Amino acid sequence: MLGSDLKLEVALPFGVPDGRGRRARGAVVVPVNGRGEMLGAEEPNPFRAALLLLASSTERIGPFRGDDVDVGLLGSLLPVDRDMLLVQLNRLTFGNVRFQTVACPAAGCGKRVDVQLDLSTVAPPDVPPEASGRLSLPDGRDVRYRLPTAGDQVALHGLPADELEAAFIERCVRPAPEGHARSLGPDEVMSLPSATRAEIVREMIAASPELDMTLDLDCVECGQTFRFVYEPVHSLLSELRASRPALLKEVHYLAFYYHWSHGEILSLSRSLRREYLAILDEELSRPQGGAS
Ligand SMILES: [Zn+2]
Repeated sequence: MLGSDLKLEVALPFGVPDGRGRRARGAVVVPVNGRGEMLGAEEPNPFRAALLLLASSTERIGPFRGDDVDVGLLGSLLPVDRDMLLVQLNRLTFGNVRFQTVACPAAGCGKRVDVQLDLSTVAPPDVPPEASGRLSLPDGRDVRYRLPTAGDQVALHGLPADELEAAFIERCVRPAPEGHARSLGPDEVMSLPSATRAEIVREMIAASPELDMTLDLDCVECGQTFRFVYEPVHSLLSELRASRPALLKEVHYLAFYYHWSHGEILSLSRSLRREYLAILDEELSRPQGGAS
């Protein structure tokens, strides 16, 4: 039977520390339930919405289980790991093949082009051995940093452009280690010329692994070739936002006919909720009171 027993094992590209000096890369996701759908649809910060959704749909990450898989733990993941979890959650909840339409970017065209993406083919990228790195400046000094995490993206989302760079550097550039006069901490990086600063930020971002989810598309209208990039966070959330009105209606029907509480209904997986609705629909469409 479809529904509550489904789960999917996921191999995280990077992983979490396992407490014994290695990285644990195994995780298990279960289908989205109503609570996850609601959180995903209502939280305005998309990166936080993604973590709330994953917290309600991830059974295990490495050695962490149950309540330990919370927004804090998920926020410590590299974005590539979060994206891998979201892609697998999307497959499990909505199916392997996802459809989107995008507007052709050619000037004066704007034709809607259909995109079909098979999420079962998403492969993990090569990942760096460490979540930290070191950049050498031309003058021989260096900058030590850690790769930005999913939690950094939550914190940086929505900051005005003129505060973003400083906030990013403050979070991800490590303080210079004691006795390393040629290493720059965040404050010293902020006092570098702006072009150097921008280059440092660019290199830190370029060092972050990503899932390759680009497709080359052709516009049938004008012949323009362009590149589409599937974004796991925005794609899954836009599906949940679009189906929120339907979710509310479904909760309403089940509460009205079964008298279950709001919380009980939201804890059903999406597929199980729909199975109950199908039963209800069948019952309600049957002729009543033995009428001939
Ligand atoms: Zn076009």
